[in-house]
Amino acid sequence: MSTILEPGQIEASASAPPFLYLPPHNLFTLRAQRLEQVARGHPLADYLALIATLCRVQQSLLDQPPSATAPDPEHVLLCQQHGLPPLAADSLVREDGWQPYLDALLLRYQVPPQPPVQKAIATLRNASAGQRKAWAIALLSGQFEGLPAALVPFLGAALQAAWSHWLLHMPPMDLKPCDSLGQCPACGSPAMAGVIRHRGKYNGLRYLVCALCACEWHVVRVKCIYCEQSKGLKYVSFEDDRYAANQAPLRAEICPGCNSYLKLLYLENDAEAEALSADLTSLTLDMRLDLDGYQRQAPNLMLAPGGG
Ligand code: FE
Ligand code: FE
Repeated sequence: MSTILEPGQIEASASAPPFLYLPPHNLFTLRAQRLEQVARGHPLADYLALIATLCRVQQSLLDQPPSATAPDPEHVLLCQQHGLPPLAADSLVREDGWQPYLDALLLRYQVPPQPPVQKAIATLRNASAGQRKAWAIALLSGQFEGLPAALVPFLGAALQAAWSHWLLHMPPMDLKPCDSLGQCPACGSPAMAGVIRHRGKYNGLRYLVCALCACEWHVVRVKCIYCEQSKGLKYVSFEDDRYAANQAPLRAEICPGCNSYLKLLYLENDAEAEALSADLTSLTLDMRLDLDGYQRQAPNLMLAPGGG
């Protein structure tokens, strides 16, 4: 007997929002362009320009990847069958597959004449594979004190490029939500920020952006992604004369239940906004929220908290 879908069923399945979006293939170029745009006249112009240059190198790692061992396809499939993130960062970082991306980044990055940058690059170049792995494990587990702050953007850039490359070349699979709303279904890393989409039938839906692999997954709005409460959530933006408060393209969702916050990007107010660059250009908001006693749980792998 064949199953015939009723028209209502077809519509229902067709209108269910996609759970997951892969990042675009020019993800890092988009980040670089955005950073270059906002760097002009910004108080952190030098830092933003440095990150933009790194994003260009990341894009070259996607376009011309180093020869490296990709994650074992059987293992990837097995993880998926068991409902685990197939590119689990906590286990793959302990293998060596990502290290060629760091080697290639260190080769391709044109080191500027600033002594602190030269020192950071020399430290990474001279470090053993074991030392690099220890630093990477610390970075991906949010233990920023476990590595020198100056190394964070370079190591973070290499790790992001490796994971995004694997993600974009993974066989298509049906990924499931993790136990925690804020955890990436593809690699298990925490979200960096949320994006409220606009245009089309998925207008107004919230997607969280992975800090490591950059995939985006759907999570309902007006719910703290850390403690899953909806009570008393507040939305604050930093003072910016260009926008009325209720039209700010970037707002923090503050949860009084667990004292945490998450930055949200509203694409209807800035269609070109991109999560990583928007996060790095709104650090004054983090400073203010920190003074108010709120905790930031979302990592940005190109920024050591407090280390600039
Ligand atoms: Fe991820
Ligand atoms: Fe909460």
